[in-house]
Amino acid sequence: MCVDTHGMNVGDFIAGMADYDDGVSSGYGSSRLQQQQVMNNHRAEVSREALTDERRITTEMLQDKLEKMQLVNEALWEIVKASTGATDDNLRAWIAHLDGEDGQVDGRRVHRAEMCNSCQSRVPVGSPICVYCSEPAPAKSPFAF
Ligand SMILES: [Zn+2]
Repeated sequence: MCVDTHGMNVGDFIAGMADYDDGVSSGYGSSRLQQQQVMNNHRAEVSREALTDERRITTEMLQDKLEKMQLVNEALWEIVKASTGATDDNLRAWIAHLDGEDGQVDGRRVHRAEMCNSCQSRVPVGSPICVYCSEPAPAKSPFAF
């Protein structure tokens, strides 16, 4: 049972339910339980629509931020090229190098556990100390977040 209630307030919606015939109940005067079920369905639908709107807005905000970051990255790269003589081929080579550092060339860079400066064990990401020797964790990459 789906009732289009867009643009109606809840009071109008409830009042309108007195005239609602779902084809199962007969005539006027749907039971209180049926009215409550319709209200619950309506609330669930409104809640789903709000969540969909929130996700759409979040997606649009993230897309906007991504486009701005791309613009800033390109501007920074142009400054670097102009001031150092680096080329696009240099950039592509560095991208490939960094991409492969995590063991997979997949267009992503996963920051893994850093090596402990004291015992050379891998310190789990986010741990403030080495779990093997209790030395402070090594400084992580500023890009590891
Ligand atoms: Zn250690």
